[in-house]
This record gives sequence, C-alpha cells and structure tokens, in this order.
Amino acid sequence: MTTANDSDETPRVPIVCPDCETTSRVPLSDVADAIERHNDQLHDGEAVAEVDPDIADRIADLAADELGLLENTE
Ligand SMILES: [Zn+2]
Repeated sequence: MTTANDSDETPRVPIVCPDCETTSRVPLSDVADAIERHNDQLHDGEAVAEVDPDIADRIADLAADELGLLENTE
C-alpha cells in the first residue's frame, strides 16, 4: 500500500502584476490574500495582479485537490 503524503510540500503560485511588472511566488493558501492585498495597497482595489495565466488551470486543479473538492464519485 502506498500512502500519499504530499501535504508538507506547499505548492507555490506565481502572481503577476503587469502594472508593477513584478512576479511573486506565494504559497497556494495565501494566493487569494496576497492578490487582494497587493491590489488593495497598490491599485486601489482594482484587480490588476493575478495568478500567472499560464498555470491558472493547474492552480484550479491544485486548489480543488487541496480543498478536497475533486468529485470522484458519481
Ligand atoms: Zn501591482
């Protein structure tokens, strides 16, 4: 039997801000917070910074996985 025990490895997610021309990596669990804080502090609450679109799809998977939202049952 194999036990999957990946929970120690926190996936890091790149957040890009075209306005500031910055990329920062934050733990998956902090992404929403980091984006909100950045946009709040630097862009008056406008949604400028966002998750790197290249991996946004993967993030959705990771997030669903982490939150146990993957629906494997019918
Ligand atoms: Zn910015």
